[in-house]
Amino acid sequence: MQIITDPAEMQSIAEGLRLQHQFIGVVMTMGALHEGHLSLVRLAQKKAGIVIMTLFVNPTQFGPGEDFERYPRPFEQDAALARSAGVDYLFAPSPEQIYPDGFVTAIDPGPMAESFEGSLRPGHFKGVATVVVKLLGITRPHLAVFGEKDAQQLAVIRRAVADLNIGTVIEGAPIARENDGLATSSRNIYLSFEERQQAPLLFKAISHARQETGSGRKDLASIAREAEAIVHSGSAASTDYLCFVDDETFELASEAVPGKAYRLIMAVRFGSTRLIDNWKYLCPNDK
Ligand code: AMP
Repeated sequence: MQIITDPAEMQSIAEGLRLQHQFIGVVMTMGALHEGHLSLVRLAQKKAGIVIMTLFVNPTQFGPGEDFERYPRPFEQDAALARSAGVDYLFAPSPEQIYPDGFVTAIDPGPMAESFEGSLRPGHFKGVATVVVKLLGITRPHLAVFGEKDAQQLAVIRRAVADLNIGTVIEGAPIARENDGLATSSRNIYLSFEERQQAPLLFKAISHARQETGSGRKDLASIAREAEAIVHSGSAASTDYLCFVDDETFELASEAVPGKAYRLIMAVRFGSTRLIDNWKYLCPNDK
């Protein structure tokens, strides 16, 4: 595995690979790698001949008072994990290399970026969309894999890549979970022992929604209220949001229509740690 920090060098390597007719897949991360990231690498390897991983803790997607400074940065461990996962190139630039003096251009991701994560974290998706488009320009991939764990981010990226005719195929990867159902996340290490015991309640809430919709219920707003009660039942957690949305537009959905896809999305705070999770529900066509 080659480690590259210079954007121009990465770009010329990617260009060279393209000239050799290599099919390039990219996995973008902020490091502190875990099983979720590695599952993205495996999916990229299945679909592409060369896998580039980017490792960049992007300052512009963190709001004031968020965890940019304390975000974990175990670089040596990440490089070892990426190498043993079979990543071909690890692109790990500094903030100054990505945002040199004079940098001004940014992407406006539109209305989808203003609800849920976007309304609670103003400017977050503008930061995400801008850095993703920059990293796509630097790594020149045919395919980019993003986790469904960050479902709203995935929807924003799909929209931006389509709207800007970037031409990279965007592939969503399923959520990787611990044995007790907690979605793997670089932020799980912030949880106290007690909070870690309670965190699987998010998955319990999802399981309830899966069971109720599976039995034919279509009253999504009530099911979401029941799911929220489950999160609050065994914990002192506070909910930023927990609801069903239209899977494509992220507009609030209260009643399921056969044939349409929805997503139960949630952001829950355990002390100072904020966890997100979601589940996609495809309402079956009536027989
Ligand atoms: P991050 O390093 O948190 O920015 O995540 C980098 C990529 O990994 C994003 O596409 C995330 O959606 C994805 N990811 C993070 N956690 C998981 C998970 N538990 N399952 C699947 N993908 C994940």
